[in-house]
Amino acid sequence: MTTVNDVLNVIAEKFPYELAGAGDKIGLMVGNGAAKVTKIVLAMDPSDEVIEFAVKNNAELIITHHPIFFENVTHFNDSQETTKRALKFANNNINLISMHTNLDAGVGGLNDLICKKLGVSKDFEFCIGLCKGGNIESTTLRGFIEKVKTAFDCDFVLAVGYDDTPVNRVAVASGAGGSAISSVFGKDIDLFFTGEIKHDDARAARENGMMAVSVGHFATESICKEIYFDLLNNKFSGVEILLATEKPSLVSK
Ligand SMILES: [Zn+2]
Repeated sequence: MTTVNDVLNVIAEKFPYELAGAGDKIGLMVGNGAAKVTKIVLAMDPSDEVIEFAVKNNAELIITHHPIFFENVTHFNDSQETTKRALKFANNNINLISMHTNLDAGVGGLNDLICKKLGVSKDFEFCIGLCKGGNIESTTLRGFIEKVKTAFDCDFVLAVGYDDTPVNRVAVASGAGGSAISSVFGKDIDLFFTGEIKHDDARAARENGMMAVSVGHFATESICKEIYFDLLNNKFSGVEILLATEKPSLVSK
């Protein structure tokens, strides 16, 4: 029999808790470590649509990238969005494991997968793995953008820079990584790639002569399912792995 803790141990060994940012909420978020698992649902978010998918498929465990709690919980009732959702997990006997910044930073984690998809060799990292990067086959900003659109199956990006500027060195940071952009100024990086960049960070990039490309939070992190699948598929006998179908929070119109 496979338990929730058996699955948790495999993920925690690959993506150690020590890699997570201070105060990040990770691990077994809701449920019982000793509970039996026969079906696991992989998802980016612990959302209602994902819970419904798990209920429909009789899954006992959901593994997400984003934690259900970002804040410290003091009241566990239906008056708050997050605790109301946590109750929904418990009431449906569904356990929840989340691996967040440790999945961003770990070996074989989100930033490594992004580098792989974009053909970026890795020879440096900043912010304890929350930003990684290196060389890319010589291209231009326009060439890089087309590569991103193919790799992440999207029709548009937001960018800083001119189409024909050469790109040889790229740094990546999954999700809302835009605030890390200043950590690569003056570090022999041509372009910073992430999910979300705030106005001030984009302006700072332009003022420091750095190109930047933002593809959306969802695109850079919904790929967590590929990582979890490769890690867990065929690992436990009698356990089926399902990928939740999730809608992006923002879509191009
Ligand atoms: Zn995120």
